[in-house]
Amino acid sequence: MENMINEKESSGKNNFIHQQIEKELQEGKNQGRVHTRFPPEPNGYLHIGHAKSICLNFGTAEKYGGLCNLRFDDTNPEKEDVEYVDSIMEDVHWLGFDWGDRLYYASDYFGKLYEFAVKLIQEGKAYVDDQDAETISSQKGTPTRPGIESPYRSRSIAENLDLFERMKNGEFEEGSRVLRARIDMASPNMHMRDPILYRILKTPHHRTGDQWVIYPMYDFAHGQCDFWEGITHSICTLEFEVHRPLYDWFIDQLTEDNYRPRQIEFARLNLSYTVMSKRKLLELVKNNYVKGWDDPRMPTISGLRRRGYTPESIRNFAERIGVTKVDGMIDVTLLEHSVREHLNKTSHRVMGVLDPLKVVITNFPEGVTEELEAINNPEELEAGTRLVPFSRELYIEREDFMENPPSKFFRLAPGREVRLRYAYFITCNEVVKDASGEITELRCTYDPASKGGNSPDGRKVKATLHWVSAPHAVESEVRLYDRLFTVEDLFVEKERDFKEFLNPDSLVVLPKCYLEPSVKGAPALTHYQFERLGYFNVDPDSTPEKPVFNRTVQLKDTWAKEKNR
Ligand code: ATP
Ligand code: MG
Repeated sequence: MENMINEKESSGKNNFIHQQIEKELQEGKNQGRVHTRFPPEPNGYLHIGHAKSICLNFGTAEKYGGLCNLRFDDTNPEKEDVEYVDSIMEDVHWLGFDWGDRLYYASDYFGKLYEFAVKLIQEGKAYVDDQDAETISSQKGTPTRPGIESPYRSRSIAENLDLFERMKNGEFEEGSRVLRARIDMASPNMHMRDPILYRILKTPHHRTGDQWVIYPMYDFAHGQCDFWEGITHSICTLEFEVHRPLYDWFIDQLTEDNYRPRQIEFARLNLSYTVMSKRKLLELVKNNYVKGWDDPRMPTISGLRRRGYTPESIRNFAERIGVTKVDGMIDVTLLEHSVREHLNKTSHRVMGVLDPLKVVITNFPEGVTEELEAINNPEELEAGTRLVPFSRELYIEREDFMENPPSKFFRLAPGREVRLRYAYFITCNEVVKDASGEITELRCTYDPASKGGNSPDGRKVKATLHWVSAPHAVESEVRLYDRLFTVEDLFVEKERDFKEFLNPDSLVVLPKCYLEPSVKGAPALTHYQFERLGYFNVDPDSTPEKPVFNRTVQLKDTWAKEKNR
């Protein structure tokens, strides 16, 4: 967690990217324009790491009165899908950002990229290589040993133009030829060693259909798209630092303008107890290790949303972790802290019992319901109050009772008096068990003078319990979540298959919980605090007949001490 300190220190008013932008603005660069973009490849759902990038790109544009584009870098039809495009747009909007009319696709530029490739060939800066991928990669060399030049490197311009056009026309098989830049096979930067610009792929594209059978490599598209869109700051993650000379080389061949998108790299977000690679997340989805991209255990934005995270909490988290140049691991408890903080301010309190134990109030009349006033949110008194029904039969949490309590247990026990929140003081007189010895019911009496839970004579009780009136209770399924993985840092274990570290107890389904009636009919994603138990929300699986709730997070971080509850 050493890097966490760095992250925190860096999250002051201006991160290093903003410092740099302000310096450029003072120098009058780009006529004072700030134009960023968020450039996902639509090959998976977005995750919390992307949220960091979204907040940075859109947030930077907002801060400097600039613009931010959404651009899909859709150069690989084999892995891309409209499902991903749609989910990405939904997630960016949900986070609270908007690209206005600036929605772009790298595929919009396929024509321009093709023309640019032709120009490179005409200038002797690109050639068609007839070798297969394996041979080409075996000639790459190492950072200390120069690569081997392809035997096709000195083909004539005319032959290259002809072959490239025939590649485009579909005359050659996949893998039989590629177009490569002719730069420097001895460059100390491996990306400059005649990188591949185009490959043959006879896969239809989700936007261009079967118009193309050759596709530009990501590296050949990304920087030029930024340039054509007038991007001033191409903010990206650190692994692209080594690609920068190549991107610059392309732009140098493309234009003699002074204007250049400036690439600035920052450290990607890594979060403890999870994976952030789209390839691994896809594997979890495809092989049913989770229920889908939006499974509430996933670090995806859609998973976090379903789990009960709010856009505000994710934006605050992104702000808090800041932006650095050093790779590090952020403790997931920081993310949980952000959502707890926001839900504490905004969510209504209700009472619900997850592991019910029946309580009969023997001196309360049968068939009578009393309505008791309860505060909706002590953090926001304008949220008002509601009425909670109280009756002769109630449920309390099983763990709030002990027949033979140790000295530190202050909750309900035989002969002991406790407070039921917003209701009354009750005393337990009798414990009823079934044949197996399991406690099935407690018989208690209440003190009618303690209405509202107030002591009638100054006598004190040591515990306040949540409860639900049995005949009024809404029977619900509640899903509790644990970490998806059992190890904090999966990088340390990279020699082994990450799936070996999946937590078998990451989901616990409680089929029969009882909630107070005010939650009835709440729409999907409604947030609540269940008093004493944590923050919960309504799952989209919920129906009026069978409500389903997810636990977003516990009330405070009791992780170290106890699992689950
Ligand atoms: P892939 O391996 O498929 O390229 P990717 O995670 O890089 O996956 P992209 O869709 O290319 O996914 O990412 C879009 C943008 O989000 C990029 O600018 C990338 O730098 C940024 N990004 C991706 N992962 C993270 C992360 N963990 N933290 C911060 N930014 C990220
Ligand atoms: Mg990427």
